[in-house]
Amino acid sequence: MDSPEFSAADIARGEALCKGPCVFVKGVTRIEDLPKDNRPEVAFAGRSNVGKSSLINALTGKKTLARVSVTPGRTRELNFFVLGKEGELHLLDMPGYGYARATKAQVKGWTRLIGDYLKGRRELKRVFLLIDARHGIKPNDRETMKLLDETAVSYQVVLTKADKPKASELVAVQAKVAEELAKHPAAYPLILTTSARTGGGIPELRAAVALLADER
Ligand code: GDP
Repeated sequence: MDSPEFSAADIARGEALCKGPCVFVKGVTRIEDLPKDNRPEVAFAGRSNVGKSSLINALTGKKTLARVSVTPGRTRELNFFVLGKEGELHLLDMPGYGYARATKAQVKGWTRLIGDYLKGRRELKRVFLLIDARHGIKPNDRETMKLLDETAVSYQVVLTKADKPKASELVAVQAKVAEELAKHPAAYPLILTTSARTGGGIPELRAAVALLADER
């Protein structure tokens, strides 16, 4: 994939960082249990089944880091990992949303946890918001975007499963997503298009992550 946005050095730095050690720190269900060191942090969010576990595994080059869900939406905690030889960055795997079998009370609990996290987390550099390249932005993605706009957290859309749609369909979804993002103040305009299956777009995503890790 062409990447006019990233230099060869950015791509190399991304690979060095993301293919380095990645260690699970903890799963957090209560706001007071968040890791307290001041490492820069990036978070991955998206609807359940969007391909988040697969993408995190492709990003880090680890096969079983984030468990690819047998039951969609099984991850219900804020799962923190430390990434890089020097422990440069926290990577956060957020619970997938839109899981049909969750109870109202569960959804309320997660929504509050995530809202509190987004409001108060100064080390959070960016949320990567994963959107399925076949479907584009769905109503519950819009709710997440609204929350990110309100909490003024910078976010960037990452299209997943880009190997699935036809080329023409992919271009149409990219254009539609870009048009919608232009209306959101906290959205980063560059959309990253990825496939965990083919590895397309993964070097660029790694470069984006590394640039954020270096932003101290
Ligand atoms: P999560 O619930 O968001 O963590 O999603 P998973 O990573 O568990 O993936 C959900 C389903 O989508 C699984 O069946 C994966 O094999 C599939 N999937 C994930 N990434 C890709 C991809 O890049 N291409 C294709 N074709 N399928 C994918």
